[in-house]
Amino acid sequence: MVKGVFCTRDITQGTKSSPGAIASTLKDMVPGQDIYVLNQMHSDRIINAEDIAVGQIPDADGIVSSDPNKILCVRTADCLPVLAWGSNKKIIAAIHAGWRGLSKGIVTKGIEVMKSLGAKNIEIFLGPAIGPCCFEVNYCVGKKVSPILNRCRNGSYYIDLWEVAAHQAHLSGIPSYKIHTLKICTSCYKKMFFSYRRDGPSTGRNISVIGGKSWLLPGLQVG
Ligand SMILES: [Zn+2]
Repeated sequence: MVKGVFCTRDITQGTKSSPGAIASTLKDMVPGQDIYVLNQMHSDRIINAEDIAVGQIPDADGIVSSDPNKILCVRTADCLPVLAWGSNKKIIAAIHAGWRGLSKGIVTKGIEVMKSLGAKNIEIFLGPAIGPCCFEVNYCVGKKVSPILNRCRNGSYYIDLWEVAAHQAHLSGIPSYKIHTLKICTSCYKKMFFSYRRDGPSTGRNISVIGGKSWLLPGLQVG
C-alpha cells in the first residue's frame, strides 16, 4: 500500500528554489533514500525514474517509477502538483501540471505511461494550486488549456486547474472517487504556500513528493 502525508512546512529557508537545491534539502531531510527532482520546463515530457541515475536532474515535467521506495518530487508555485499511484504494482508518479502542461495533456500522458508499466486501479491526488478565484488569463490561454472548462467573470477568463486535470483523468478512465483534490489556492493562502503570481519569480517553491521507504521529518513521523 502506498502511504501518503500532506502537510505544509517551509523547507526552503536559506536555500534557493533550483532543482539541485531542493534535491539536496530533501536528501538532508530523508537521508539514504533515492530522490528524483526534475528540471521542469512546462512541457509534457514524462520520464521513467528507472531510466536515469539517482542524482540526475532530467528535463521533464513528470516522472514515474515502478519502485515506490523511490521519492519522486515536483516543485510548484501556483502550478498544479499531481501525484498518482496504482494499487496493483505500486507504480507511482509525480507530475508538474501548469496551464502549459495541461494544454498538452500532461495528466492524460502521465496516466498512459503508468498504464504502459502495468498500473491498474490508478488513484490521483491533485494538490494546492492557484485557484479559479485568482487565475485570470486571456482568452487565448484559456482556450488552449480547455475549450470547455473556462470560467468567465466580468468579461475575464479564469482557469480551474483542478477541474481541467480531473477532466483529463476522467477521460483516461479514472473514476471520480479515485480523484482526490485539495482545493486550496496558493495565491489566496499566503501563510501556507508560495505563489508565483502573487509574489513574483523570486518566490520559493511548494514541494510535493510521493514514495519513499519511510518518512521522518523533524516533528512529523509517518510510518
Ligand atoms: Zn485564490
